[in-house]
Amino acid sequence: MRISDILRDKGDGVVTVTPDLTVQDLLATLAEHRIGAAVVSADGVNVEGIVSERDIVRKLAERGAAVLGEPVSAIHTAQVRTVAPDADVAEVEQLMTERRFRHVPVVADGRLAGIVSIGDVVKKRITELEVQTSALSDYITGERV
Ligand code: AMP
Repeated sequence: MRISDILRDKGDGVVTVTPDLTVQDLLATLAEHRIGAAVVSADGVNVEGIVSERDIVRKLAERGAAVLGEPVSAIHTAQVRTVAPDADVAEVEQLMTERRFRHVPVVADGRLAGIVSIGDVVKKRITELEVQTSALSDYITGERV
C-alpha cells in the first residue's frame, strides 16, 4: 500500500498557515478544522515548516501566554520530514513511530500534495493486515486455491 492510496480516500487537502499568522489565530484555525497540526507555507505550495498543538503547549509552558501574540514562525519546526505519494505506508508508519511525530506532509515535484496523520496510516495498515490475514487463512483452510 502506498501513501497515494490513503490520499485517494481522504483527499489531498491540507490546512496551511502563513508564517506571520499569530499563534492565537493558529489556535483558532486548528480548532475550526478539528486538526492537531498545520503546514506552514506562505503560498500553500512550498513547505516552510510544520506546527502542531505540541509546539504550542511546549512554548506556552516555557514562555507563558505572551506566545499567543507571537508569529507561527517563532514556534514551528523548520526541518520538516516529508514523503512522496509513492512512499510505502508501512515505512511511513515506522518513520512516524521512530521520530515521534504524528503528521507527515506529502510532497510531489516540490509541491505540497497532501498530509497523512498517524491515524490515517494506522487505519490503512490495519486494513492491509486484515486482507493479508484473510488470504492466508483461506489458503490454509483450502478455501482458496
Ligand atoms: P506531532 O506529533 O505531529 O503533533 O508533532 C510533534 C513534534 O514534531 C512537533 O514539534 C512538530 O512540529 C514536529 N513535527 C510534526 N510533524 C513533523 C514532520 N513531518 N517533520 C518534522 N517535524 C514534525
